[in-house]
Amino acid sequence: MINLHNHTIFSDGRYDGQEIIQRCKDCDLRSVAITDHYATSKINSIHPAELDEYFEAGREWKEIQGINVFQGIEIDSCPYRSKHENFPWDEINGMDLVLVEYIENPDMGGMDLDWLVQLRDKLDIPIGLAHTDIGMMLERTGMDAAQLLDLFEKHDIFIELATAARYSRSGRPYFKLCPEFYENITARNIKVSIGTDTHGRLETLCDVASAWDYIQEQGLEEQVLDKFL
Ligand SMILES: [Zn+2]
Repeated sequence: MINLHNHTIFSDGRYDGQEIIQRCKDCDLRSVAITDHYATSKINSIHPAELDEYFEAGREWKEIQGINVFQGIEIDSCPYRSKHENFPWDEINGMDLVLVEYIENPDMGGMDLDWLVQLRDKLDIPIGLAHTDIGMMLERTGMDAAQLLDLFEKHDIFIELATAARYSRSGRPYFKLCPEFYENITARNIKVSIGTDTHGRLETLCDVASAWDYIQEQGLEEQVLDKFL
């Protein structure tokens, strides 16, 4: 199993990366990623001047044996909270992955899919949608599932299956609410990730079984993101 979405004290998390990674080793995780918020006024996040320090911490995290460790950032797509025009894309390309939040989510001031595609072109590394309610995205954009799958396939954008309870509607996780989309990923060249979006509770780091079971049910094992990092 994997958990590729977690926060540390570099942003609004409560624990150091070492503590998070050690805890992930205790459960059945083969891969973990630290993905702190970068330069958003929404919450405490990595300041551009701290990016070198963050990379240095990442090199130390990757020396931990017994689990694959990856490092990325999470980008807030809201242009009022996050000044994307000032982002150091060359440096960001040194990460293993980038998560983007709030795409096509006007309640959170997020940007649209066209903006995501432009962002994608600035980066050579895997980029994906964090905790996205795909059913809501289809409703808001007027696209159908096949069109959205086409777009993600064409631009190599991965999809995160978010397991935290806050990423659910009517008691069901977002990834179980839109079968016309998720059940067709297998036929596409699209990668999938899993994230708990852990901030303050180490015990949530291992809560990935619901998404892992889903990946197995759908036969998506060969499309799991860590295989490509
Ligand atoms: Zn997050």
